[in-house]
Amino acid sequence: MHELSLATNLIDYLEKLGKEQGLNRINEVFIEVGELTHIDPRQLRFSLKIASEGTLAAQSKFFIKRKKVVIKCKKCGKGSQLRTKEMIAQYSITCPLCGSSEVGIDQGREMVLKRVRGIKK
Ligand SMILES: [Zn+2]
Repeated sequence: MHELSLATNLIDYLEKLGKEQGLNRINEVFIEVGELTHIDPRQLRFSLKIASEGTLAAQSKFFIKRKKVVIKCKKCGKGSQLRTKEMIAQYSITCPLCGSSEVGIDQGREMVLKRVRGIKK
C-alpha cells in the first residue's frame, strides 16, 4: 500500500524531528498533498494513525490538504492553476490558455510537510 509506506516514512521523520527538538509529544501535523500524487488523503490519515502508534505522534491530529496542480506552459509562457480533476488526466496535461501540451509541472506532484506542533518536556 502506497499510503502506508509514505506514512511510515513520515512518522519516522517526525519521530526524529521531535527528538531533536526535545518534544514530549507531537500534537498537530499539517501536510499538503499534490493532486497529481494519487495519494488519497483519507487513506493517508488512516495510515498515519496506524504508523504513529507508540511514537511521539501517537495522539497527534493530522491535517491533510489537497494542493492544486500548477503548470507552466512552454509555448505561451504562462502559468495556470488547474481547477478540475478532469483536466489532470495524467498523460494529457494541456495549457488551458493555448491548448499546448508542452507544459512543465510546477506544483502538485509532491507531498509536503508544512508544519508540526508539539509540546516540549
Ligand atoms: Zn499555453
